[in-house]
Amino acid sequence: VRRDGNEPEFLQAVREVLESLEPVVAKRPDLERYGIVERMVEPERMITFRVSWVDDAGKVQVNRGWRVQYNSAVGPYKGGLRLHPSVNASIIKFLGFEQTFKNSLTGLPMGGAKGGSDFDPKGKSDMEVMRFCQSFMTELYRHIGENTDVPAGDIGVGAREIGYLFGQYKRLRNDFVGVLTGKGLTYGGSLARKEATGYGLCYFVNEMLKSKGTSFEGKRVVVSGSGNVAIYANEKASQFGAKVVAMSDSNGYIVDENGIDLAVVKQIKEVERGRIKEYAERVKGAKYVEGCAGIWSVPCDIALPCATQNELDGDAAKTLVKNGCKFVAEGANMPSTPEAVETFLSSGVYFGPAKAANAGGVATSGLEMSQNSLRLSWTFEEVDEKLHGIMVNIYENASKAAKDYGCEGNLVAGANIAGFLKVADTMIAQGVAY
Ligand code: NDP
Repeated sequence: VRRDGNEPEFLQAVREVLESLEPVVAKRPDLERYGIVERMVEPERMITFRVSWVDDAGKVQVNRGWRVQYNSAVGPYKGGLRLHPSVNASIIKFLGFEQTFKNSLTGLPMGGAKGGSDFDPKGKSDMEVMRFCQSFMTELYRHIGENTDVPAGDIGVGAREIGYLFGQYKRLRNDFVGVLTGKGLTYGGSLARKEATGYGLCYFVNEMLKSKGTSFEGKRVVVSGSGNVAIYANEKASQFGAKVVAMSDSNGYIVDENGIDLAVVKQIKEVERGRIKEYAERVKGAKYVEGCAGIWSVPCDIALPCATQNELDGDAAKTLVKNGCKFVAEGANMPSTPEAVETFLSSGVYFGPAKAANAGGVATSGLEMSQNSLRLSWTFEEVDEKLHGIMVNIYENASKAAKDYGCEGNLVAGANIAGFLKVADTMIAQGVAY
């Protein structure tokens, strides 16, 4: 708090993790001697830089870029890039901190990082996005590398942006390497990466459901957001036999009691880059409601928040519980406020926290790195099967850690503890850098 008092999202993420670690610190006095917690909350490196670019009117625009290289104990830094006007140092640090634990949970050799800019891609032309990405990479390239730091996509960074960033890196370094993940399939991308976070989320929820003797079959599901994670969470939940009845964007939400027609959503969001509102104009019987927060008043059995941080607050959580929701799992990063998490844990809702439930994206990025190193491409089925195995493992490790440390059924604590212990022990093994 002394150093980071003006960074609320960062403090929120750190507080949640530290609270869950209390039983671990009690059992492991060596952690205090090695200053593990203090070292883990302080990023290894935080880079801030100017990104200037020329808009279509010929005017120079200036944004700010960040890359936090949080922890490299278990592998090269790894984490996405976010382009959104709300991005600031606090958000980048909270995301990088969470990423360290998430990457550790996947079982793959990846450290934690995150980056991005307060650039708003909305309403920008293709050429403006390209010039921004090229300028961003013109600074970032000196800090990253296939064995140093491998960025990926996040909010506002999809295949188009990764392509521009990769092209500029290659041009500056004269080196064709897997320095970014989420790449196009013609230049080293992995099949199933696009689907991975949403599919992985549903594989994780499937394990949660199984442990309670039930399944997705016939369940009503609400998915917030309509971006990459939300679309593929919807796709897999529907393949598992559930009915997704609501989705949203930052302006409002749609409800379709017949089950959302995902082909229409994909056309609007992936092809036309339009607004979710247009769904109700195209599909008979569907309705659109202004204001995204209202989505949690739609009754459901399973809620999957897949838009952004703090989108589901204490009141929304109470409404979900009142309407009979029994399972919540986070596709987005920290979408539930601390009050919402508390409500779920105390009301018997089985809750899957982001760093476990949405780890499928970065896990598949790890698989993309492996394929790049091998100079091979696996089939969709091979990648999907590996992803499935990783998500089952994450669920088992998180629920076992919760049980071992006296908080059975609390996957928040379980995921934090399992992710933490591996990084902590590795930091101890590698010695202290003064
Ligand atoms: P996209 O940019 O593809 O989609 C983001 C979605 O969230 C859009 O529907 C967007 O609506 C909505 N959204 C963004 N900001 C807000 C806001 N302030 N209020 C309400 N809605 C908002 O991003 P992703 O799907 O990739 O990411 C979604 C979440 O999942 C993020 O938290 C991200 O960190 C997390 N995540 C993503 C992974 C991935 O592989 N992509 C991996 C792990 C986590 P609009 O179009 O109106 O902005």
